Amino acid sequence: MSTDRNVAIFTHEAFKDHDTGCHPECTARIAACEEALRQDEDLADRIRWESPAEAPDDAILRCHSEDHLRVVRRTEGRRGYLDPDTLFSPASYRAIRLSAGAAIAAAECCYRGECEAAFCLSRPPGHHATPHRAMGFCFLNNIAIAARHLQSLGCERILIVDWDVHHGNGTQEIFYRDPTVFYYSLHQYPHYPGTGPESDRGEGDGEGTTLNRPLPRGFPAEEYREVFAADLERIAKEFDPQLALVSAGFDSHLADPLGGLTLTEDDFAWLTGEVRERMGEGRVVSFLEGGYNLEALARSAVAHVKAYL
Ligand SMILES: [Zn+2]
Repeated sequence: MSTDRNVAIFTHEAFKDHDTGCHPECTARIAACEEALRQDEDLADRIRWESPAEAPDDAILRCHSEDHLRVVRRTEGRRGYLDPDTLFSPASYRAIRLSAGAAIAAAECCYRGECEAAFCLSRPPGHHATPHRAMGFCFLNNIAIAARHLQSLGCERILIVDWDVHHGNGTQEIFYRDPTVFYYSLHQYPHYPGTGPESDRGEGDGEGTTLNRPLPRGFPAEEYREVFAADLERIAKEFDPQLALVSAGFDSHLADPLGGLTLTEDDFAWLTGEVRERMGEGRVVSFLEGGYNLEALARSAVAHVKAYL
């Protein structure tokens, strides 16, 4: 098996067992993306499907408190809510652990040069989960757990690019005082969760390694691209990241029912290409966050993965 020249996709059947009923963050999201990726002829011999293991406690505890992990663990075998948006079913706990495990495995796969890029087709998503609580459909902050894991392997400077329509408040909070992880977010503002003004730039040693681009509803895609390209160039020059992790939320798509931005799958392909080109081969790992129009989501996921090749 060729280890490079392909995109590794980390997914697991158990992601479909996180049963949220008719909630927008539903099981069908994974199925729609998986089907579209499997049916695409151009991708057939260029993607490699990988199955992750559950994230170990120590990896989770680099980003979350013991108390929070205890709360998440108590969801096992039960049904309920951790916040008004964040519901769980009896099998959710395993999906939560596997979603964080997929993040770790994908990051490691790239870091070790075993793939050209990696994409986590996983749920529940993670970027709203803070050190101490679950919120906004998220239980554990998958991308943050991946970043800390990479640092444990010796990767020093990591860029997180978050193009989900919502601000990744959890990710920002985890790295707000940390100069070794740059958090860059473009998001609709004001919008859920209400965080992410431009004045949030990091604190202490981390001052200047948080960059927020709050955008008004309906912000034009061409201008979005201009902002993105200029910011990425500056971050590359000033921060010089060794690896980029992408919170790939496809709810910034024009057709998304929860967002008001105007991107299309062509824009997602372009954004992916920008990051890929800037970072180089084997230096980009992405993580599914939002995206709630199933057709737009599936098309966007395919465009995103294709842009890696
Ligand atoms: Zn979102």
